[in-house]
Amino acid sequence: MSDQSVVDGLVRFVRARFATDDFIPLHAPVFAGNEQAYVLDTIQSTFVSSVGAYVDRFEADMAAYTGCERAVATMNGTAALHMALRLVGVEPGDLVVTQPLTFVATCNAIAYCGAEPVFVDVDRHTLGLSPAALDAWLAANALVDDGGRCVTNDDGRVVRACVPMHTFGHPADIDGLVEVCARWGIALIEDAAESLGSFYKGRHTGIFGAVGTLSFNGNKVITTGGGGMLLTDATTGKRAKHLTTTAKVPHAYEYVHDEVGYNYRLPNLNAALGCAQLEQLDGFVARKRALADDYRTFLDGSDLTFVVEPDGCRSNYWLNAVICQDMAHREALLAATNREGVMTRPIWALMNNLGMYAGCRRGPLDTAQWLEERVVNLPSSVPPEGAR
Ligand SMILES: *Cc1c(COP(=O)(O)O)cnc(C)c1O
Repeated sequence: MSDQSVVDGLVRFVRARFATDDFIPLHAPVFAGNEQAYVLDTIQSTFVSSVGAYVDRFEADMAAYTGCERAVATMNGTAALHMALRLVGVEPGDLVVTQPLTFVATCNAIAYCGAEPVFVDVDRHTLGLSPAALDAWLAANALVDDGGRCVTNDDGRVVRACVPMHTFGHPADIDGLVEVCARWGIALIEDAAESLGSFYKGRHTGIFGAVGTLSFNGNKVITTGGGGMLLTDATTGKRAKHLTTTAKVPHAYEYVHDEVGYNYRLPNLNAALGCAQLEQLDGFVARKRALADDYRTFLDGSDLTFVVEPDGCRSNYWLNAVICQDMAHREALLAATNREGVMTRPIWALMNNLGMYAGCRRGPLDTAQWLEERVVNLPSSVPPEGAR
């Protein structure tokens, strides 16, 4: 197939699959369940704000769905990441290892702590942080001191945590990352913002490290308008709730706060939307997986390589992705599809190329660079039922 016929066919395929001649966005929310009833209920009850039954229910439902001991809702995924880093003890001057191929929120949350990201490469088959690259950077730059802390050889900076991200919903090599982090005494935080509904060896992403984080932004698998969640154990969860709710000590009427806390809680209004969306999650993921399967079949044998879930994983296929032959091919695909009203987007610019993170430490980033030049996301909303 030539480039042009692939693009023409792809545009026709996407239009048929979404059953519309209108503009097709990358990812739009679907409200097909109890959203209106639950949101209206919060208004009628007057409990729209920081206290309310839907927050408790959303947290309990999410803990049950993901299989963690405790889930704590936050106002967005970035706030959840910020709290996750604080909960594992990230302090000003610390280093936190992450991948350069991610959404900027991952690095911003590290910066909010006064810490600095360190960029190590991703694996080609997961698009997520490479355990081998992590181990190699640590072996070349750090040691574990007598106190069991991981510190850099040259300037004694503490490497406190590692934040892999499950890119586009595809789980990173979690077993490998758990092993390397344990050996080096580093806390593992999974940025699972994109991977709600994705499983690694049968267990939900976000529950393998000390803390995991989710996002319910409008473009994610399910949305609360804006929102996020911390996934963790019971003890850390209790502390997370305290820290995200102004560190208020329970009392019937006195204002007692025992540390500098945050107002990062999710309003009940948003949690109501979340409860209704979570009821539909399994159906959304099934339809997204069917769409991914159709993309894969359609693109088989073309000059675009469809990104598939890693072995042993069940991905939510949050954003479908293809790998182009080279940058010129990528540009041609982006221009032609967007011209036709079918939205496609390149993968993020590497974090180490953004001004504020350009001076950060890094290992070799060849795979991230290679992917940055070639990966394009295709329309990935939950498709209409039955449309083919
Ligand atoms: C969406 C997202 C977040 C969090 O985003 P919010 O808009 O703050 O909810 C964090 N990391 C990644 C990788 C994301 O895709």
